[in-house]
Amino acid sequence: MTFPFGPMDGDDQRQHSSASQTWRSGTGNRVAQLRYMALLWLSGCALLALVTWVCFKIGFNEVATECVYLIIIVLLSLLDSFLTSVFLSLVAIACLDFFFIKPIFSLDMQLKEDLPGLVSFLISSLVITALVRHVRRIVRVRHEQAELLDLTFDTVIVRDMNGVIKYWNRGAEELYGWKRGDATGKVIHSFLHTRFPMALSEITDTLVRTGRWEGELVHTKRDGIEVVVSSRWALQRNHSGQPKATLETGNDISARKRAEEMLRQSHATYLAEAQKLSRTGSFGWNVSSGEVSWSEETLRIFGYDAGVHPTVELLFERMHPDDAARVRQAIDLAASTGQDFDLEHRLMMPDGTVSHLRVVAHATTDEAARLQFVGAIMDVTEAKQAEQKLHETQSELARVTRLTTLGELSASIAHEIGQPLAAIVTNGEACVRWLDHPAPQPDEVRACVTQMIAEGRRASEIVHHIRSLAKKNVRQKIPLQLNDVINDVVSLTQHEVLSHHVLLCLKLARGLPPLLGDRVQLQQVVLNLVMNGIQAMDGISDRPRALRIESHEDSEANVVVAVQDSGAGISPEHADLLFDAFFSTKPNGMGMGLSICRSIIEAHEGRMEASNNIQHGATFQCILPAITAGGT
Ligand code: ADP
Repeated sequence: MTFPFGPMDGDDQRQHSSASQTWRSGTGNRVAQLRYMALLWLSGCALLALVTWVCFKIGFNEVATECVYLIIIVLLSLLDSFLTSVFLSLVAIACLDFFFIKPIFSLDMQLKEDLPGLVSFLISSLVITALVRHVRRIVRVRHEQAELLDLTFDTVIVRDMNGVIKYWNRGAEELYGWKRGDATGKVIHSFLHTRFPMALSEITDTLVRTGRWEGELVHTKRDGIEVVVSSRWALQRNHSGQPKATLETGNDISARKRAEEMLRQSHATYLAEAQKLSRTGSFGWNVSSGEVSWSEETLRIFGYDAGVHPTVELLFERMHPDDAARVRQAIDLAASTGQDFDLEHRLMMPDGTVSHLRVVAHATTDEAARLQFVGAIMDVTEAKQAEQKLHETQSELARVTRLTTLGELSASIAHEIGQPLAAIVTNGEACVRWLDHPAPQPDEVRACVTQMIAEGRRASEIVHHIRSLAKKNVRQKIPLQLNDVINDVVSLTQHEVLSHHVLLCLKLARGLPPLLGDRVQLQQVVLNLVMNGIQAMDGISDRPRALRIESHEDSEANVVVAVQDSGAGISPEHADLLFDAFFSTKPNGMGMGLSICRSIIEAHEGRMEASNNIQHGATFQCILPAITAGGT
């Protein structure tokens, strides 16, 4: 790089005297060029003749005349090419020899010592004219380059390594309001009150190391107004490689910066407003650096004041103690596998209030290919409370419905069976009376007993009738996939699983054969087993509450669903009673669940089994015949 104040390489082909430029660029005509040269040469000869005559008359010696010739040759050579210098130098030598070197008026030379003098004159003349032309060329090129630098709208400033301004273009004059004369010689950074984006020493290090630096600087103009300048610095070194100067080009980006800032502010305002409305905060977490960033709304959700420096530990400080281990486990897993995560947990604020959050995070990598998560945190407390309320209402409704149904059922059974029982009792009493009679009446007794048998049969028929009514209630069976039934139940029980902090594990076999069944009834069965499993783990706190639902096909063409929990298991004394109606060990249990399950499964020609696991908990299985190629 060559700066306009430094040495530069001339381009001989491009450089001409102003006169030659006139004819070259004016006509480009060879004839005009020759005419100009002939005129110049003639004028030169005439001038030399005149000078010779004057010097001869005055009586100048050879050396004085040589000096005058030199001046004329140098001046004339400025008007044209090197050839003119050579021609005029030769003419001057001829004149010197003829008029000033003995014998006079002859081109002969009396003393051989005069020859070196003439040769030195020729060489000096040629060298001086060449040098003068070269210097003129340099000055002109520099001037042209400086003019070019003034054409640009950018600021171009050159300063030495002490920051002293050496060059200041028109762009700089216009931007900063200082004229070239005002700025040159000043120390740039104090002159413009420069504010740097980083330490100046760091910038200088980069400049010296790489030869370049670019960044945004804030300068103060002559009128005191600050401007943001996009500045590019380039280092010039001297021949020994030492830093010599810095070329600083820049352009005013204040307007763009203001527009960007306004845009950013309005974006930030909209985003903050939208986050506030949707109660959704955002966060970023760089796993390797541990750096965390969060939005205002996240800050609000976690109940921290604005300006608090975000860290992962701060987030955990507000975590509900019962959820902390689970969340940490999920986050550690995501950090080690680089997988997205989606989890729900609670926060416990210092005043004891509990809120529910849903956290969804997406794994990405930063510019250095380091793992980071970008995510959203939704405050779902209201939704949770509404869901909880709905759930409670549903449970209450179900309980009331069950009680009502049971009440009605009991009333109707009591009514239906009450009559024959009353008749049996009445007939029994009559029977006793007849037997106590002083003269027993066997016929009467027989009649009563016959009546009692008839009433007993009637009661039995009523029971049979109720059972057959229940059987008739079996809905239409269709071919269905056991896994679909299980998946239905899984989505129905999500709330229970989460609220009871149960780890649900599904292991469903692929390609199971279909079975013939009533989807709703089978859902009821699986639902009941899942709910029993969840309830059986309620008191467990020393181990994970793990519920595993598995499906497979056994060797006898049955499809099997097994629900395994890690609860307390089945006490041996209860093992035979589990499926009995009204058997329950729960304070509010009705004891109808497993009995209904068994009825449904048996109505599907299947069977139910229950057993304790080797370590903890119990497993309940439903074994149902699959539809085989040749029928069920
Ligand atoms: P309820 O749930 O109303 O008690 P169920 O018929 O569904 O009625 O269950 C009967 C009983 O079987 C329960 O009270 C409980 O003692 C026992 N039981 C059911 N499932 C499990 C299980 N997964 N682990 C241990 N015991 C169970």
